[in-house]
Amino acid sequence: MSTQQGRPLPDPIKMVTIPSRLDYTITPGEAPTRFLRGILEGRILAERCPKCGKVYMPPRGSCATCAIPTKEQVELSAKGTVTTFCVVNLPFYGQAVEIPYVCASVVLDGADLPFFCLLAECPVEEVRPGMRVEAVWCEPSERKPSLENIRYMKPTGEPDATYESFKEHL
Ligand SMILES: [Zn+2]
Repeated sequence: MSTQQGRPLPDPIKMVTIPSRLDYTITPGEAPTRFLRGILEGRILAERCPKCGKVYMPPRGSCATCAIPTKEQVELSAKGTVTTFCVVNLPFYGQAVEIPYVCASVVLDGADLPFFCLLAECPVEEVRPGMRVEAVWCEPSERKPSLENIRYMKPTGEPDATYESFKEHL
């Protein structure tokens, strides 16, 4: 061990925890702006590709497959199907939801791509692919231009969707 003036040095510092924060502003572009304006009203406005017909939610303004703009808006219901999910069991700094909880990929009815969301009002051990779910919105007075207006998805109680019905949307 190294010494300094005959005294042993303390153990080396291997980790420092420093809370940090980043504030940033996003300029969303045309398609996300249309989507975010709909979300403010409690509407889910996806966009359809004019060539392949794929429906993007949230819309990005173009089709990733065909590389052409998407402009046709498609209003989706707030119901969908769980395609995949994970159970969060580990605590972490800044955690807002009590563990265990479920994050799920949900493909809304009429959409071709799933989005990632919180799933609640259901024991974690009962969550499964094919489970039918619906959005729980925050109060209109609390809404902002964000997908966070959907507080979480909850089970509808409908029969599960078959794997065949969502296997192309994983
Ligand atoms: Zn396309």
